[in-house]
Amino acid sequence: MSKNSDIKIYEYDAVIVGSGLAGLAAAKELTEAGKRTAVITKLQPLRSHSGAAQGGINAALGKEDSTELHEFDTVKGSDYLADQDCVELMCTKAPETIRWAERMGAVFSRDKEGDIAIRPFGGQSQPRACYAKDRTGLTLLQTIYEQADRAGIEVFDEWYAGDLIYKDGKVSGVVAYDISNTQPAIFNAKVTMFATGGNGRLFRFNSNAHANTGDSLSIVARHGLPLEDMEFVQFHPSGLGGSGVLISEAARGEGGRLFNSEGERFMTKYAPNAMELASRDVVSRAIMEEVRQGRGVGKDGQSVNIDLTHLDPEIILTRLPELRELAIAFQGQDMLKEPIHISATAHYSMGGIPTNIDCQVQKNANGDLVEGFYAAGECACVSVHGANRLGANSVLEALLFGRHAGENMIKALDEGIELRPATTSDADTMIQEIHSIKTSNGKESVPKLREALQIGMTADAGVFRTKASLTKQLELIDDLLVRFKDIYIDDKSDTFNTDLQEAIELGHMLESAKFVVVGALTREESRGGHYREDFPNRDDANFLKHTYATMDKAFNITTEWGDVTLGKFEPKERTY
Ligand SMILES: Cc1cc2nc3c(=O)[nH]c(=O)nc-3n(C[C@H](O)[C@H](O)[C@H](O)COP(=O)(O)OP(=O)(O)OC[C@H]3O[C@@H](n4cnc5c(N)ncnc54)[C@H](O)[C@@H]3O)c2cc1C
Repeated sequence: MSKNSDIKIYEYDAVIVGSGLAGLAAAKELTEAGKRTAVITKLQPLRSHSGAAQGGINAALGKEDSTELHEFDTVKGSDYLADQDCVELMCTKAPETIRWAERMGAVFSRDKEGDIAIRPFGGQSQPRACYAKDRTGLTLLQTIYEQADRAGIEVFDEWYAGDLIYKDGKVSGVVAYDISNTQPAIFNAKVTMFATGGNGRLFRFNSNAHANTGDSLSIVARHGLPLEDMEFVQFHPSGLGGSGVLISEAARGEGGRLFNSEGERFMTKYAPNAMELASRDVVSRAIMEEVRQGRGVGKDGQSVNIDLTHLDPEIILTRLPELRELAIAFQGQDMLKEPIHISATAHYSMGGIPTNIDCQVQKNANGDLVEGFYAAGECACVSVHGANRLGANSVLEALLFGRHAGENMIKALDEGIELRPATTSDADTMIQEIHSIKTSNGKESVPKLREALQIGMTADAGVFRTKASLTKQLELIDDLLVRFKDIYIDDKSDTFNTDLQEAIELGHMLESAKFVVVGALTREESRGGHYREDFPNRDDANFLKHTYATMDKAFNITTEWGDVTLGKFEPKERTY
């Protein structure tokens, strides 16, 4: 690793961390507008988790559908915690976003008339998930990457962003290192955007890619900036039992039925109208309740069955081919012939870096802005999902708000922003972090600490939460944060040092997990994906509010509350 003096300082108009749908959509807009833009990504762009999205992307295209219905479903799904101005923007712009993707070359599945096909998803009063078989995210990611590449984006792939340059209320770039040789560099920019995706790897059972460690959340928090609504984690009803690998909601959208060990179609008890297509939080709790009452299936009784055998095999073969392959590969179960074992799996973070409707990052609950700093996609909380996200709204959010962030960054650049020059000392914190991990000769193993965190999160901060379980998990995290100071890594080299990267990521995971748990303890109510058994009801009088939490150097977390932007949909009880 280099000394401070030979650190390269790159200068750009815009720097974007993350090359999923959100980051690439912004980068494409900026580059086409002639702005010098660098995309930093720890993965090859097409390996971003957006490419794993299976089921669909929402837009009110159906004859019986309307953007207002899409808005209503989204706000109801959010348990009324979403900001209704942002929801309105998303739903109104959704049809145009689909056309935009289509014009770029995204090949959507078609209906018999040749129009873009739509299928039902949970919590929707009309079918509105557009899809490309069950490879929707991959199709979109490939398309946008091709087009961004054609526009001439500059990608620093397999580069790890480790710090933000934030001084005097203003961001002027990021500090990153080249994973191939651990060489640090500074990316000095007039505008900076985070589009780093989710943090599902905090949980033992999760549907997320290994890279989804939520790095940017704690990078932001280490600078004393807030995170919003972190307690709201979505547990998806259908992870493959045992592994958590996702079986998309498309399986229920196409007609999959849920059964317990007694052969009972149990959703009749929990959501008699919407049944399997109630919102995800409702179905996940129903599944886990059946398991808790001893009506689970599988060798450890921890799953339930999803049955698709009554469907025309053609539907499975043409609309769900990847899901079928996943279930065969991971469980040896063929959905054409038999039910598949599934269980709730940690899937999505509704909370994240707070932004206003134009994707500008907020400094506090009052909405004061950080200059030159934007965020979009899963790492951000704009908030269109509130306490629970509807299926197929997230790929939409990433693409639409990623593009929107790009447009707003162009506007800001055109209005004139001076580049505040960086100095090599801006890299000190990241270099010190790398140095201390590489030279630490403690006794704690990174994989073991990570496993303890993940097991605890699933058991004690998962689908069901209580004060006792959350307090237990908080104590565990505090203990792990202390033990983290005493880690060792075997690989001391500078070449593709994945031990080093995993250690840095674990630091980020421990911190963002603490935000989840403290938020969940503070919010003494049940809303959307956050279910407190000791406070089973929604409490609008006290908690129809966003959480804004900040962390000090000793990892103490303080919570403030911020207003929810209400609108035409009055909060009422949510039933399905
Ligand atoms: C299995 C699965 C299926 C899904 N299916 C659907 C679906 O059908 N419909 C739907 O709407 N949603 C779905 N989702 C959710 C949706 O795919 C994601 O929320 C969305 O794609 C996130 O996009 P993004 O651009 O924010 O981040 P991502 O696509 O996750 O990209 C994150 C990027 O950040 C980079 N990065 C992260 N940290 C760093 C760092 N420290 N340094 C450098 N780079 C970094 C990564 O390299 C990556 O390029 C699914 C999610 C999963 C896990």
